[in-house]
Amino acid sequence: MVEINKERLWERLQYVGGIGADPRGGISRFAWTPAYKEACEVLMGWMREAGLTVRMDTVGNIYGRLEGQENLPPLLTGSHFDTVPMGGKFDGLAGVMAALEVLTAMAEQGEKPKRPVEMIAFVNEEASQFLGGHFGSKAICGMLPEDYALTSVDRATGITMKQAMLDFGMGLEPDHFEKSYIRERDYFAFIELHIEQGCYLLHENLPMAVVTDIAGIKQFYITLNGVSAHAGGMAMEDRHDAMAAAAAIACEVERLALESGSTTRGTVGYIQARPAEHNIVANQAIVPVDFREKEDGLWQKLYDDLMEFVEKQCQARGLTYSVKSTIDTSPVHCDKRLVELIHQCTEQEKIPHKYMVSYPAHDAMQMGRLYPMGMIFLRSSNEGVSHCPDEYTTPEDMADGTRVLLRTIEHLSKQDKL
Ligand SMILES: [Zn+2]
Repeated sequence: MVEINKERLWERLQYVGGIGADPRGGISRFAWTPAYKEACEVLMGWMREAGLTVRMDTVGNIYGRLEGQENLPPLLTGSHFDTVPMGGKFDGLAGVMAALEVLTAMAEQGEKPKRPVEMIAFVNEEASQFLGGHFGSKAICGMLPEDYALTSVDRATGITMKQAMLDFGMGLEPDHFEKSYIRERDYFAFIELHIEQGCYLLHENLPMAVVTDIAGIKQFYITLNGVSAHAGGMAMEDRHDAMAAAAAIACEVERLALESGSTTRGTVGYIQARPAEHNIVANQAIVPVDFREKEDGLWQKLYDDLMEFVEKQCQARGLTYSVKSTIDTSPVHCDKRLVELIHQCTEQEKIPHKYMVSYPAHDAMQMGRLYPMGMIFLRSSNEGVSHCPDEYTTPEDMADGTRVLLRTIEHLSKQDKL
């Protein structure tokens, strides 16, 4: 039976995870930067050392392949290789390093799987400088427009994504995303290991979870338009108060989430009012809404119900409104056979675990629309904080999760069909 090397896994994660250290604290390893390139070279070096066939596609995703005995569609596993500003060492990287350790262990212990196994390090998932998110997986799934690299701009420096990719080199072709497309027949299944980024496994004293669904996300901005007025001069019944409507909408978002009958998450992170004065009735308010829900029907219903409420508010207060959607991603469900298999492998390794829904989005969402998809969550320590320097998962939890990933891959690489 193949065994992972726990120390190597941890040392490599610490080493490559430290590349892109930010003087303000934490790690800022953004896609296509010099630090990112350095990390890519280290990773690709380890992959070659393990005997994998290594390549970078035209957008910057790294693939490594362990050949199989038969020419079957490979199994794919991995996660993202970039970080948020001042982030930690585990978000994304945990899944990349687990994949590397699994393939390295299989290769060095002479395991030749029936079907090939590939790992992937997705580029620009966090999209810290070029907003949008999940770039690498969206690009290969053909979900981005052809001119995306030309129209996407670094929010700090103003340079285009195309320029950043050209400066990065390594064979990237910003005008040819299509050369990186993957099709349904190209892979057998996709598995992503990721940290939980929450405190629930920690509080339940569980090292691991098997993910069942990834919640759909609706992110949109509601702009309410009213009329400015003197806070003293205008009677309450004569106002067209955009701020009061915005506050009511924020409370309604919370109520809809609490009373949905599911585990919906609904958030209004701020309200931007104008003219934003103490003694002036606001003539405009912008409400950014974020809904996350795993059930397909309910995901849409939350939005429809909120819009009905907005309509009523605006009628009652004599306001007009408009809505701009920024994210509209339906829920994705992990393949039931993979959920069961990961569960069995976790039992086999005697690791206590539970089933969980992922509310953060992951590259697995895109991959799950093309292939049977499964996800493993690892416990986040330090009260579950993530996207910050204190993000932490213990070496033991990393090893447990990686062992489960190995067993899952061993099973799947032998199977003709799921
Ligand atoms: Zn992540």
